[in-house]
This record gives sequence, C-alpha cells and structure tokens, in this order.
Amino acid sequence: MDAPSSKTILIVEDEKDVVDLLALNLRKAGGFVISTASDGVAGLDKARREKPDFIILDLMLPKMPGLEVCKILKSDPASRQIPILMLTAKAEEIDRIVGLEFGADDYVTKPFSPREVILRIRAIMRRGEATPEDERLTAGPITIDPARHEVSVGGKRVNLTSIEFKLLRTLMQRRGRVQERDRLLNDVWGYESIIDTRTVDTHVRRLREKLGKAGDVIETVRGFGYRLREN
Ligand code: CA
Repeated sequence: MDAPSSKTILIVEDEKDVVDLLALNLRKAGGFVISTASDGVAGLDKARREKPDFIILDLMLPKMPGLEVCKILKSDPASRQIPILMLTAKAEEIDRIVGLEFGADDYVTKPFSPREVILRIRAIMRRGEATPEDERLTAGPITIDPARHEVSVGGKRVNLTSIEFKLLRTLMQRRGRVQERDRLLNDVWGYESIIDTRTVDTHVRRLREKLGKAGDVIETVRGFGYRLREN
C-alpha cells in the first residue's frame, strides 16, 4: 500500500497556547502537516473540506462544543473513519466521549504532556493501518467478518466502533485464553501500558451492551482481564 510520507492533522482548539504547544511538538516529531481551527463550527467545516488524516478536538469550544462536532463527524459516512482524539478537562465525560454516544477514538485529559499526545496519535494511526486478518470467526450467535469489517448477532448486523471491533476480534482469536488488560491495551490500542487499564473495562462494557445477550460470552476474570468463553 502506498503511504503518504506526511499526515495532515487538524487541531480544533480555541486556546492559542495549547494549539502552539501541540503544533510545535508535532512539527518537532516530524511527518505531520498541521491545520487549525479555533471554534467548533470552523473545525467542522475544515474537517469536511480538508478531510485530514487525524483530528485533535477540544471539548470546550466556542460556537459548537467539541462533543457535538465529534458526534456529527462520526455519524457521517464521509468523515466517520477520521480518527478523533479528544482533549478534555472533565474526567466525568470520558465514558461518554469514547463510548457509544460520541464515538471518539481516544481522549487525553488536560493538562497533558505533548509527548503523550504524540504517542497516542501514533498508536491510533498504527491501529488504522493494521493488516486485516480476513478469517471469519464465530462464537455462538456472533459472527465476525474481518474482511468486510462486519459483526452480526444471530444474522443481525451490529455496528461497532473500530476499537470495539478489534477488541472483539482479538478475544475471538484467542478464545478460551484469559487476556490481561495490559496485554489488550498493547494489542488492541497499541499502547505500552501508558494509560489507565480502566479504558479496557469501559470498552468491554460498551461491546457487551451492543452484543446484547450474546455479550455474555465475554467473561470477566476478576483482577486479571477478560476471556471469550469456550462453548
Ligand atoms: Ca478550549
């Protein structure tokens, strides 16, 4: 596959020093072309026109809140695949940000270290480039078709975020084997355990909700991690 050498990143943030800090560090890291917008409406407009490879989106923005921008972009097939990293100062919003409701790919809480932000961006981008493993897998009523990126339960299509999909595929591929949270973070998210392992719990909970009763196949192994039950 031919990969362009630099990736365009749209930073949507009204605090100029935050934009400058991010832009400076992204330029230093190399391989990024930076575009900026200082309010939600302009950010949405730029995201649609420029189709960046990645968006860093602040939660608190003038004109339109970051979550609203995120929700609109993630519900539009033309922009859904663009990864979004949310910046937030509100810990209590995290569940909603990365969950069902808004569908952001990840979040960083303010104040953040620019180095951590760059690690996250690279991890999310790697995730998107992972080679598809095309084997169809089933577990009870759940069928997963990696080639088409489709999941169904009892023949009925279920819409999963890319992380939920990868999480389910990983558990299905390693069926019957307990997967530690750290290991899942590393294999699904691409992190070297630099973030809170509760992220895994949040996503497993969402995944179970979406799978309905069939979600019972994912077992919690207390104090350790998760396992897909062998029938
Ligand atoms: Ca802001």
